[in-house]
Amino acid sequence: MFIVSIDEDICEGCELCVEGCPARILGFNGEKAFVSGDETECMGCEACISVCESGAISIMEV
Ligand code: SF4
Ligand code: SF4
Repeated sequence: MFIVSIDEDICEGCELCVEGCPARILGFNGEKAFVSGDETECMGCEACISVCESGAISIMEV
């Protein structure tokens, strides 16, 4: 199982991770991305990490 987290202090608000997440668990509050769904539904595909230029996203396998 994977758990995703986003450091909102680092996020630059590009929204690319939100659009690219196949599990649809990432949201956008107008300024920053955040985990809007069940963080444990992350599939570990790393699509979000690959598009995030700020390095704000972390995935942990548990
Ligand atoms: S690793 Fe994949 S499923 Fe998990 S949050 Fe990122 S894009 Fe979504
Ligand atoms: S891809 Fe990175 S910088 Fe862009 S909204 Fe997502 S977490 Fe923020």
